[in-house]
Amino acid sequence: MIVILKPEIDAESREYQRLEAHLKNVPNIEMRIHRVQGAAQLLTEIYLIGNTAALSLEEMRSFPGVDHVVRVSEEYRILGRHKNDNRPNHFTYNGVLFSQDNLNVFAGLCAVDSSESVEAMMKALRTNGQVCTRMGAYKPRTSPYSFQGHGKNCLEYVFELAGKYGIRVIAMEITHESHLDEIREALRATGDPTGVMLQIGTRNTQNFELLKSVGRQQEFPVLLKRGFGITLDESLHAAEYLASEGNQKVIFALRGMKTNIGDPHRNMVDFAHIPVVKRLTRMPVCIDPSHSVGSRARSSDGILDIMHVTAQGVIAGANMILVDFHPDPSVALVDGPQALRMEELEPFLEDVSIVRNAYEKRLENLEKTQSGATSS
Ligand code: PEP
Ligand code: MN
Repeated sequence: MIVILKPEIDAESREYQRLEAHLKNVPNIEMRIHRVQGAAQLLTEIYLIGNTAALSLEEMRSFPGVDHVVRVSEEYRILGRHKNDNRPNHFTYNGVLFSQDNLNVFAGLCAVDSSESVEAMMKALRTNGQVCTRMGAYKPRTSPYSFQGHGKNCLEYVFELAGKYGIRVIAMEITHESHLDEIREALRATGDPTGVMLQIGTRNTQNFELLKSVGRQQEFPVLLKRGFGITLDESLHAAEYLASEGNQKVIFALRGMKTNIGDPHRNMVDFAHIPVVKRLTRMPVCIDPSHSVGSRARSSDGILDIMHVTAQGVIAGANMILVDFHPDPSVALVDGPQALRMEELEPFLEDVSIVRNAYEKRLENLEKTQSGATSS
């Protein structure tokens, strides 16, 4: 059960203390307090774990100071959607809104290789009105002999260039909790010119200790990739690890699944699961067409497979796109074969906007059908 207090009520207030005294007398109930940023104010949420069947919704609602109460099912207690659950499906970070209802594009470098590539990328983003990007500094690689990313050595120039070109959020994978401190330090050293969304890659989806340490901080939002060889349920529980430690600013990314049955793409594209994740949870859903498809192959119509699958995700209501670009993919140190070129950014964004408009028309149409059905 989740008890959401009125915005003005906090742990020091008399109303809270009355409620706490009551709950302490109910056997086998554990209380966890979370401070969560609501639309306008900080909200206090009390998570009740244990024998919550002994508590009635009416009784909990009757306490002064209680705004609303949600009885959660066992599944995805914090990030999930439950009956009569009006908790938000959005958050704002560094001036950018992330929601189940809008769409942000994060085009950028799979791996930072040089400050020249970073600058070329950021320049192209600004020309095209973009304020988000991806920049890989810590790269988890299959072989220990492959380039592992420039790590903390590139952070300061990446952040400075982001500030120069008006980039507000950079998605950046971390593979160890020490990277969090390195990112914090570099942001501070450069005067906080941009924001960072911490990315947990598919190889670390179930690295529970990493999830817990990333979940314990609320400074940075988190992009969690679906595990490539585990069930959707297991990946959604991994997201719940972040929230159970206190960080609810979580975006869930679909990036394709390993099937080993001769897929023509690097991974089996799983964007049909966008509506499923949005139905089960309150997380905005990201798609990664680059790591799903893994190549610049084109269909007989001439359109890149990466653009086709992006369109498939956007028409199904995707909320974020993480996509690899590089000024010269032939020399990229990681994942060159799947990178789009700078001159492809504009047509890529145009294609996305055509499909997003079509998705919005689908919603309008549904609304018309539904209001027709209720008025007749
Ligand atoms: C990436 O986005 O750079 C990456 C390594 O992705 P994934 O974890 O999905 O393989
Ligand atoms: Mn990659």
